[in-house]
Amino acid sequence: MIDIGLNLTEQQFEGKERDVLTRALDAGVRQMILTGGSVEGSERALAMAKKHADVLYATAGVHPHDAKTFDDNTAKRLRALYADPQVIAVGECGLDFDRNYSDPQDQYRAFETQLALAEDNELPIFLHERAAHTEFIDVMKRHPKLIDRAVVHCFTGDKEQLTAYLDLGFHIGVTGWVCDPKRGNELREALQYMPLERLMIETDAPYLIPKNLKPKPKSRTNEPMFLPHIGREIAAIMNVDEAVFFEAVETNTKRFFKL
Ligand SMILES: [Zn+2]
Repeated sequence: MIDIGLNLTEQQFEGKERDVLTRALDAGVRQMILTGGSVEGSERALAMAKKHADVLYATAGVHPHDAKTFDDNTAKRLRALYADPQVIAVGECGLDFDRNYSDPQDQYRAFETQLALAEDNELPIFLHERAAHTEFIDVMKRHPKLIDRAVVHCFTGDKEQLTAYLDLGFHIGVTGWVCDPKRGNELREALQYMPLERLMIETDAPYLIPKNLKPKPKSRTNEPMFLPHIGREIAAIMNVDEAVFFEAVETNTKRFFKL
């Protein structure tokens, strides 16, 4: 199993990285991709990945929340990161109009620059979209070649949004959001229309702990060791045999990220 979205450099994991990785490996999660959400965060993610070659990889990018900080120096430092073979994707990048921590104009600018970086470096892209579905699609439609190597991570939308992404050719990343009995209904319904060959799975740990874990862990911290739980939940929704499911999702991930 491969977790395509893990935030191992967050402070919740400080000093516990080794234990977290051991528990993940024991649970059958053999590889993990660390999400880079800022230049500094991406540099730290790569440094951590370097300590665990063949197990950890990193993406490098700037989250839309931080788009206001994106300048020429940011692009230069990201370019240096893409030269490293353990940095396997551009992102996370995209649009987030939920709270507009960065002005939409700054978000568009940072997003477009990172799409150009993905084009120049011939890398896949790890995308974030929240409350910006239509605008996000408008941007991506101008980059049709990139869509074939683009994954919309932590998809939480409904059937219409999923279908729109699939029709254009996106891959879809699904987290433990699907395990939330209160918030996950639309997503669970949408997943009945999800083709297995376009799906990847992620924990987004330490965030989004699956709400239906039994027994409930004392800490509220999500970990990559919970990826099998998330996968089993999705397999049941899609009515796919678990072994078939996990093999297909791993094959997709290796092909997509060239692992
Ligand atoms: Zn995200």
